Amino acid sequence: MTYQPSAARYDKMQYRRCGKSGIKLPAISLGLWHNFGHVDVMENFRKILHLAFDSGITHFDLANNYGPPPGSAETNFGKILKEDFACYRDELIISTKAGYHMWEGPYGEWGSKKYLVSSLDQSLKRMGLDYVDIFYHHRPDPDTPLEETMMALDLIVRQGKALYAGISNYNAEQADAAIAILKRLGTPCLIHQPKYSMFVRDAENGLLDVLEKDGVGCIPFSPLAQGLLTNKYLHGIPQDSRAAKSTGFLQESQVNDEVVGKIKKLNALAEQRGQTLAQMALAWLLKDDRVTSVLIGASKPEQLADSLKALDKVDFTADELEKIEAILK
Ligand code: NDP
Repeated sequence: MTYQPSAARYDKMQYRRCGKSGIKLPAISLGLWHNFGHVDVMENFRKILHLAFDSGITHFDLANNYGPPPGSAETNFGKILKEDFACYRDELIISTKAGYHMWEGPYGEWGSKKYLVSSLDQSLKRMGLDYVDIFYHHRPDPDTPLEETMMALDLIVRQGKALYAGISNYNAEQADAAIAILKRLGTPCLIHQPKYSMFVRDAENGLLDVLEKDGVGCIPFSPLAQGLLTNKYLHGIPQDSRAAKSTGFLQESQVNDEVVGKIKKLNALAEQRGQTLAQMALAWLLKDDRVTSVLIGASKPEQLADSLKALDKVDFTADELEKIEAILK
């Protein structure tokens, strides 16, 4: 049956301005790193994408290497785009990235112009798109001059293969330098995608300040620490969890006693707030205006539905924030 999006899809979602740009992103965006590869079930991820769009999620994040196998998340997303979302392309912000290993030889990873341009061409083909909305350099490259990498992003935007440029996994100093080069080239950096959650706080060491100063948006990835910041691991490691799957990036060793002890305390606090832990973890990031959107993953539609309810309560009392810091210490 043809997919018919909900007419009420824009009623509940909040849209936040991305830095000082003209673009607004949904407070919650969906990433396709896990759960959308050829190893996963098409009908399940089709349902997740339908629920996302029906709930006002307009932003979907990919990368050349998402799968497994690498590239398959883009291929699968492209298939669903064509079948279900063809009429809605102008309502979508689709991003992809290049930086990690994608093909053999010296031009299949890192940050050369050769790699970035070829990789985006491959991504566009896999997704069946003429352009993506955001193209990211996925990780800093210690060996390629930053100037070359940023010139490649600038070129790609000027060619119309991407509307905006972004960077990911750059620290404060690297981000500041990249943003300055892009500004000079005339293609402002739209957004930075750092790993940031209650459990991973590096972005607070200067990066958020740099982004605010430069008017660049911020979209934290793995805001639920790959599922740790949910009620999933309270009583062991479920068989269908990322930590249990051979293709998952979360290691069983990361679900250790110390972490589970913290999760239990955070979960109790979330219950007192009338939220699930996932909702509290997302709200905790969104309380900061410098965070444009949180980039979540979901392996089931029910998880997405749960996470979306974070928007019902994003404010915290000073006492709650202190308690959270004490637990995380
Ligand atoms: P999250 O931290 O949101 O983790 C998502 C996982 O948590 C789900 O797959 C699911 O795991 C579990 N989960 C999600 N919601 C719930 C819930 N409500 N209740 C219980 N469990 C839940 O994000 P990801 O690590 O998936 O990353 C999100 C996106 O960020 C990626 O898809 C990608 O787009 C981007 N990213 C970017 C990177 C970069 O270098 N730029 C690196 C990594 C990610 P389970 O499978 O166990 O059910």
